[in-house]
Amino acid sequence: MTTRDPLSILEPAATRIRDPLSNRSMYLAGLIQKPSFADDVLRFEVHFAKEHTREQRKRMLESLILNIQGQGWTGPVEPTVLVAGVKRGPGKASLGGGTDAPKAAPKKEAVRGMSGPGMKAHGGPMELQPLAGVKHIIAVASGKGGVGKSTVATNLAVALADMGYLVGLMDADIYGPSLPLMMQVKGRPVAGPNKKILPLMAYGCKCMSIGFMVDETEPIIWRGPMVMGVVRQFLQDVSWAPVDYLVVDLPPGTGDTQLTMVQNVPISASIIVTTPQEVALLDARRGVEMFRKLDVPVMGVIENMSYMNVPGGERMYPFGQGGGQKLADELKVPLLGQIPLDPAIAQGGDTGAPAALDPVLGAPFRALADSLVEECPI
Ligand code: ADP
Repeated sequence: MTTRDPLSILEPAATRIRDPLSNRSMYLAGLIQKPSFADDVLRFEVHFAKEHTREQRKRMLESLILNIQGQGWTGPVEPTVLVAGVKRGPGKASLGGGTDAPKAAPKKEAVRGMSGPGMKAHGGPMELQPLAGVKHIIAVASGKGGVGKSTVATNLAVALADMGYLVGLMDADIYGPSLPLMMQVKGRPVAGPNKKILPLMAYGCKCMSIGFMVDETEPIIWRGPMVMGVVRQFLQDVSWAPVDYLVVDLPPGTGDTQLTMVQNVPISASIIVTTPQEVALLDARRGVEMFRKLDVPVMGVIENMSYMNVPGGERMYPFGQGGGQKLADELKVPLLGQIPLDPAIAQGGDTGAPAALDPVLGAPFRALADSLVEECPI
């Protein structure tokens, strides 16, 4: 028997999802009602208005389930979905383990004023706030760590800057910042005249990383809300403008940072980094599903560590072959390129000499930058 308060799971989960009708969180819009635990099944009602489209309802429900899992509840979940007070059958969103479908709820009137635009404000609306002076925010993401996401993010940023664009590089990987090493940039950022934090410059990119603020040896053991606070600060309180492309290196997976990003600022494109291995593909798929659910455009997949060039012009495929293409096909997005596994790329990352600037090694990163410019023109 769980002793958890159902609201302690549902409130934070539903607070993170925007209701497009009221522009408030699902929680504040009053869409979630009657939370309870019965026989270890998390039950609640979701009250949609008739103006919610089927797609919006589906997206919100799916995000809600994802967020409930994010709150550490992996047991059965049985939402009862009502549209304008009329029950639509049990939500298909059960996480497993749930047996009996909820009994038919009596017909209800929609709860006036709870989900409509006339609702009085008692909390901030969850609107996407474009960052003034930032033309495109580009998210670089991966399902799991170690696939080369930071390598791709930094090299993409450097390639764009080398092409003459104004570029920002934000290291949103709070628990494992790699920007200071990869860009060989250190120092404590200071506040500028407008009280905004001045990013540090490296290879023509405006850089910001938690690694600038904390000691390298200091373990970062912050909890979710603190991480979300830092990410928000990095977006809003850093003097990015003017910037054509703000490349954001997200942490792996589908956690608080990703949610904070997609719920605060409009993202023009996300790029998914994967390796050809099946296990990495599974995780990448999960990441893409999350972006899709949260309406973030997925520009495509880039496969890293695809092959090794061996003397004699041969190629070796230490992690298998065709995985990136398979994932791209499955997700119906383009495969944006393949980056070879090359010790010189790793060395470039370790010494702050980005591969993007090398005439040969840099080719796939420059090609990625070209595709991005095409996709998100200035
Ligand atoms: P992530 O951000 O996904 O955790 P990183 O970009 O930090 O991954 O890369 C993990 C390690 O792999 C780093 O040491 C990096 O230098 C190395 N690496 C990444 N891509 C390549 C590559 N194409 N060839 C060789 N080493 C690479």
